Amino acid sequence: MTNNEMEILRNQMDDLNLQILDLINERAKVVQQIGEVKEKQSMKRFDPVRERDMLNQITTHNDGPFENSTIEHIFKEIFKASLELQEDDHRKALLVSRKKKSEDTIINVKGEQIGDGNPHYVMGPCAVESYEQVAQVAAAVKNKGIKLLRGGAFKPRTSPYDFQGLGEEGLQILKQVADEYDLAVISEIVNPADIEKAVDYLDIIQIGARNMQNFELLKAAGDVNKPVLLKRGMSATISEFTNAAEYIISRGNSNIILCERGIRTYEKATRNTLDISAVPILKQETHLPVMVDVTHSTGRRDLLLPTAKAALAIGADGVMAEVHPDPAVALSDSAQQMDLGMFDNFMNELEKHLTVHS
Ligand code: PEP
Ligand code: MN
Repeated sequence: MTNNEMEILRNQMDDLNLQILDLINERAKVVQQIGEVKEKQSMKRFDPVRERDMLNQITTHNDGPFENSTIEHIFKEIFKASLELQEDDHRKALLVSRKKKSEDTIINVKGEQIGDGNPHYVMGPCAVESYEQVAQVAAAVKNKGIKLLRGGAFKPRTSPYDFQGLGEEGLQILKQVADEYDLAVISEIVNPADIEKAVDYLDIIQIGARNMQNFELLKAAGDVNKPVLLKRGMSATISEFTNAAEYIISRGNSNIILCERGIRTYEKATRNTLDISAVPILKQETHLPVMVDVTHSTGRRDLLLPTAKAALAIGADGVMAEVHPDPAVALSDSAQQMDLGMFDNFMNELEKHLTVHS
């Protein structure tokens, strides 16, 4: 073949490419018109029977050299792309995504602006055990200028024989302490039916790792006007995590804080593996504030400070950790909560670190 012949064939190929391009775009316009009609008539967009008919018609006319299976494959891709053209915007870009909203979401909780670029801390016992226990921690938390107090009233425990929390009484204790110390409280709710009740007691509703895909709970949290701290499920991908947040925002509640709390891996040195890179990924992909729970991710007191430093250095909006007046006698997570002295030191060291690196 001479260079000249090659040139002619290539030109022919370029022309054909452009013809195909024109044709698939022309087809796309027809698809859009069909989409509008279907929208008006509330018809389902995906119609497998119609797709099968089209494929049959196409392969009946196929004279080769492509095999029918190859032709079906190519056309299926065109069908898929067409369906995406008809789909609503939510499928293409989640409401929690930066694509949908480029500015950071800032959540105001009793004057605390979570997501404003400054670090925020959520500190408190694993579980609410008594008024005195919570009040002691509240005093220490307040003393450090921290506003957000945590404490579990409904504890989702691995064993049904372990302490399950004080339930509503726990929420009452939290509310009483919050009022007395002018703090904001956050606590986990596990039952969709409890969400409305929780609104009266809490400043932030926590949805725990074990319930990240409890879709009825997510919907209930999306129906109320109260900030939600959503923890990443221990086996959840980042996409599953952001879709869980989407359940909440799609019901109208956009005050969501995402919390990385470690994922389950083969590593046994820590309770879970802190997925630190999830923080910048979530910050890039969503407009929501992102916190890191250093207690449940590591399960080790000696790692609380270094992981908290790492969290803030990598761009987290806050850190959660557990504090108990006497961890040795705590009814849950006794091995990993800080006592008040450790907590004092933890905050001092963290502040020092931030000053040096600011
Ligand atoms: C908690 O924060 O009390 C808790 C149980 O955490 P997680 O859901 O991340 O295990
Ligand atoms: Mn705990």
